[in-house]
Amino acid sequence: MDYFRVLVVDDEEDFLETLVNRLNKRSIDTTGVQSGEDALALMEEKLFDVVILDIKMPGGMDGIETLREIKKMRPLTEVILLTGHGSMETSIEGMKLGAFDYLLKPVKLEDLLVKLAEAFEKKDSQDQKIRSAKIKELLRFPGRVFDQEKEED
Ligand SMILES: [Mg+2]
Repeated sequence: MDYFRVLVVDDEEDFLETLVNRLNKRSIDTTGVQSGEDALALMEEKLFDVVILDIKMPGGMDGIETLREIKKMRPLTEVILLTGHGSMETSIEGMKLGAFDYLLKPVKLEDLLVKLAEAFEKKDSQDQKIRSAKIKELLRFPGRVFDQEKEED
């Protein structure tokens, strides 16, 4: 699964470092950042398939605000929320905003890997649908491809 790219967003440095290392050891291309702002800045330049996002983060942007912006910027990126026991309402709000699912902290690596696999599968199937729709479009309207090429000249 090493073509999948994962971004982990969590303000707890030790947790973040450990998780990023563990995922990379399993050949999942994983990057970590400590704030919503950093996540969005990185997502402007690099594509990620799945974002693992902590709900409770200090400073300007909490998890929900970050989720909102991620979904605006990259609607097809799947987001797995990390939530505490006291934040079930926030988890539900996150699901309504388009999060793929949530996991309760402390997170077991095996649970996270299962959830990641599910998110990869969904992302992959959506990517395939989009690719196949694009191919169908090309085959159905060859003239459009020609027109587009002319416009680019
Ligand atoms: Mg936190």
